[in-house]
Amino acid sequence: MEKIKMTTPLVEMDGDEMTRVLWKMIKDELLLPFVDLKTEYYDLGLPERERTRDQVTLDAANANKKYGVAVKCATITPNRQRVEEYHLSEMWKSPNGTIRAILDGTVFRAPILIDSIRPVVKNWKKPITIARHAYGDVYKATEYRVPTSGKAELLFTDEKGAELFRETVYDFECPGVLQGSYNKDSSIRSFAHACFKYALSTKQDLWFATKDTISKQYDQTFKLIFAEIFEAEYREKFEAAGITYFYTLIDDAVARVIRSEGGFIWACKNYDGDVMSDMVSTAFGSLAMMTSVLVSPDGKYEYEAAHGTVTRHYYRYLKGEETSTNPMATIFAWSGALRKRGEIDTLPDLVRFADELEGACIETLNDGIMTKDLVGLVEEDTKTTAVNSATFIAAIRERLTRRLA
Ligand code: NAP
Ligand code: MG
Repeated sequence: MEKIKMTTPLVEMDGDEMTRVLWKMIKDELLLPFVDLKTEYYDLGLPERERTRDQVTLDAANANKKYGVAVKCATITPNRQRVEEYHLSEMWKSPNGTIRAILDGTVFRAPILIDSIRPVVKNWKKPITIARHAYGDVYKATEYRVPTSGKAELLFTDEKGAELFRETVYDFECPGVLQGSYNKDSSIRSFAHACFKYALSTKQDLWFATKDTISKQYDQTFKLIFAEIFEAEYREKFEAAGITYFYTLIDDAVARVIRSEGGFIWACKNYDGDVMSDMVSTAFGSLAMMTSVLVSPDGKYEYEAAHGTVTRHYYRYLKGEETSTNPMATIFAWSGALRKRGEIDTLPDLVRFADELEGACIETLNDGIMTKDLVGLVEEDTKTTAVNSATFIAAIRERLTRRLA
């Protein structure tokens, strides 16, 4: 069989630990036999980040900007323990944080669904994708533990020193707490563009919700910026694609999400996204089945799994023990990136390959062949065979070969 050709390179970012092991298995078994893979390779594994003083992460992010599509393996975010373990000269920053900052991107997370794992919310039939605005709000707030009675004020001085705003927040008659949070129009705009672009790219409705009835300046600004950008740049494109933009209050959104069938993107302010993404992913099943894509406001994409490097399995692997680590989300990162590359470069064979690769994965799971993490989640009447990662990937390859023949 002739291998599928690519024209533009895909930016490949390798990573750490168990996911690095899976990365190689996925390439060797599921990609290289079928695709004439053209990638620009960056090793974001911790030893290489240390050797290059993290320059490799910056280079990879800039390549993502240049070529438009990247696929990333999970990487270690160093903490004090990792600094010792890897003899690091510095506690390098999270690669995901660095890439997100360079692309000014928004993260979209969506679960992979299979028939035998039913969501806890029984009317959810299609995935719910959560987009979290990962900037500002309570995460960058200034806080103060008020020790005694006294007056708290909100004061804004412009760059020339003129006092533009001063208002009493509260006249404390006793100790209490105080918080000052902010956000920037530019960041909200980037978030809005990324959401509208991703909705078009995946042909799904976009929902957005805040508490603008209560927060008449702060949340209202989010609502107005989304509305303005939608009217100016996306309404016609949405109509042509047959999708809608829907704004409502956050409490109404929560109620509607629970009653919905799924199949839409839910854009959330930072805190709502933090909380709701944990709820939604747990209700859908497993972290190992959660995909993640970073989208920039100018339409650059970086695909990855939502989970980390699965350290506990890696230590067992190093001792020579067999592991049953689930490669699904990492395989779907590859298929997502290859499909996007194929769409941009108009390569129907590459798009079809991505579809068939995902189809082969789902078929394998539907045949009851799965990694251990999923066995406990499937419906009681399902016959399952728990296998290790290599056997699971081999079963996918068998089905993929048949589908492509
Ligand atoms: P993790 O790697 O996501 O793993 C946490 C636990 O979830 C695992 O021990 C395992 O449970 C289960 N799990 C996750 N993915 C799985 C898979 N594919 N198959 C089977 N089970 C899976 O999180 P962590 O242990 O907190 O973090 C490990 C490292 O990853 C850290 O150094 C962290 O910095 C990094 N990290 C990176 C990213 C990223 O690059 N995007 C994201 C998160 C964390 P059992 O052990 O019970 O089987
Ligand atoms: Mg959270």
